[in-house]
Amino acid sequence: MTSPKKREKKPWRRPDRRRVRAIRERLREMYGVPVNHPHHRPIDELIKTVLSQHTNDGNRDRAYAAMRERLPTWEEVRDAPVGELEDAIRPGGLAQQKAPRIQAILRELGPEPSLDWTESAPVEESRGYLLSLPGVGRKTAACVLLFSWGIPEIPVDVHVHRVGGRLGLIPPDASFERAHDEMLAVVPAEDAFELHVNLIRHGRTLCRPKPRCGECDLRRMCPWYRDLDHRELIAG
Ligand code: SF4
Repeated sequence: MTSPKKREKKPWRRPDRRRVRAIRERLREMYGVPVNHPHHRPIDELIKTVLSQHTNDGNRDRAYAAMRERLPTWEEVRDAPVGELEDAIRPGGLAQQKAPRIQAILRELGPEPSLDWTESAPVEESRGYLLSLPGVGRKTAACVLLFSWGIPEIPVDVHVHRVGGRLGLIPPDASFERAHDEMLAVVPAEDAFELHVNLIRHGRTLCRPKPRCGECDLRRMCPWYRDLDHRELIAG
């Protein structure tokens, strides 16, 4: 019996708009069209993103609610004894690291903490400022701009990184930093939120670390699936 012929791996090339649209359409058929409802509260988004590190959404929300109940204004959060803030956010885990980080960020935001100016500032300026805050990276900055104001950014989390890499939207070995740049380069502004959400949905359901390609409608357009090297990883 002859073994299957191994295809030659093609070097990664940035996908064109048509291909990105085709992926968006297929994901839309599978997961629908998510709608962004910008909430106009950028500091809330920023601090929630800090609280969400290394925990799930439920614990993050419990920590956030407890903090706001105990310390209702951002000035109170900033000026509270750090131990009091730690106590308040304990349900979110890693309170000893997150509390000083939250206070350091709030101290940077001026005497009356505000990020409202990021709604209308040039996106590069807002992104650059957010990245200058203690412990804030590309994903957090993108979350603040996308979810607070609907500014087209694509937060790259582990799901977006894995699924985007497999589908060829980004180079398979791209750093998270480069992945953000590549996603912004190939995804039209009006599709940023939809692709962000649907890539995460796909990463949580079928395109998991051990993917369920047999159930996936993207198979025919998936370079990762076509690569025989990966077949032993596919579930089912
Ligand atoms: S075919 Fe497999 S690897 Fe490709 S997107 Fe679907 S689940 Fe992911």
